[in-house]
Amino acid sequence: MLDLAIIGGGPAGLSAGLYATRGGLKNVVMFEKGMPGGQITSSSEIENYPGSAEILSGLDFMAPWPEQCMRFGMKHSMEEVTRVTKNEDGTFIIALNGGKMEQAKSVIVCTGSTPKRANFEGEAEFFGKGVSTCATCDGFFYKNKEVAALGGGDTALEEALYLSHICSKVYLVHRRDTFRASPSTVERVKNTPNIELVLNAKVKKAYGDKMGLNGLIVVDGDGKERDIAVPGVFVFVGMNVNNSILKQEDGSFLCDVDENGNVVVDLSMRTSVKGLFAAGDLRIQASKQVVCAAGDGATAGIQALEYVNHG
Ligand code: FAD
Ligand code: NAP
Repeated sequence: MLDLAIIGGGPAGLSAGLYATRGGLKNVVMFEKGMPGGQITSSSEIENYPGSAEILSGLDFMAPWPEQCMRFGMKHSMEEVTRVTKNEDGTFIIALNGGKMEQAKSVIVCTGSTPKRANFEGEAEFFGKGVSTCATCDGFFYKNKEVAALGGGDTALEEALYLSHICSKVYLVHRRDTFRASPSTVERVKNTPNIELVLNAKVKKAYGDKMGLNGLIVVDGDGKERDIAVPGVFVFVGMNVNNSILKQEDGSFLCDVDENGNVVVDLSMRTSVKGLFAAGDLRIQASKQVVCAAGDGATAGIQALEYVNHG
């Protein structure tokens, strides 16, 4: 039986593992379906982690985190968790993709969030063939070419800036004329000559052929259509909460979640179920920052340690 199962290996999961194992908890496994690091590894840069003055890519920034946790005994199991359930004796069952089960005394859920789709015509058809949600991964394919980026939040604007260094031009398509992104980022975008703002515009459809995407048709507030002929479009329209592993067979959630599916926790990252903790982007009122996810993870790790040792 595991003392602690951590689900998700982003900043929250890795920090939870570090604090729990360094605090003395044995038998701690982090189930992370991919390489550890989380969603920040798809970011071109991180410049707001306190104490880290050098601007690094998300991938480089996260590189030392797994090694640091594993030094204290945390293990990484590269498996996808499909469901967490609670036994009558208070322990948990972690169901893994492929049918295997693990039992644990406590669980910290740190599954974060994943990029949303904008749901325009052609988005799914050309996904991976011109439509992408990761500029760091796919931007280079469009070196010296024109691309479009969709959205008005921090991700869309930061990634449009990143793309502007690789691509000849970036059309930033946003459905309103004001942005959610931080004012300093908006200012940088406005001062970048090869970013054209296409505002109050909705994507009607993406079009192309067997070879891939050829462009987007966008519609402005007056219904006027514009053809933006680009081989690449980057969709940055927010994130979905990864809470599905908490869904039980009858459709209910194992613990309380709010109306948007965010997991309800207290200041100790305790959920409504004893021994079950949640940390990072999937919890209520998350600030959705690496430093906050790491702080949550540390708190949850310390609390799990306390729970396993003293109940
Ligand atoms: P995540 O990082 O989302 O990690 C969750 C992990 O869980 C993933 O690795 C996933 O593979 C795994 N997982 C999910 N479901 C399962 C399952 N069923 N089984 C096993 N594993 C599973 N924040 C900043 O502070 N500064 C920035 O500059 C910044 N830039 C960003 C740029 C981009 C493009 C994006 C997308 C985000 C950015 N953020 C930034 C936000 C930051 O990345 C997140 O707040 C942070 O990563 C959240 O950490 P987390 O550990 O809660 O979740
Ligand atoms: P976000 O803040 O939710 O912004 C999503 C954007 O997409 C919004 O501008 C929204 O438009 C638009 N949008 C949503 N659905 C759409 C659709 N179907 N079609 C067209 N446009 C659509 O998401 P995010 O930018 O990914 O950021 C997520 C969180 O991570 C935020 O809390 C953010 O602050 C944080 N983050 C922080 C940093 C940083 O600190 N440097 C970097 C990246 C992300 P409306 O504005 O009209 O709703």
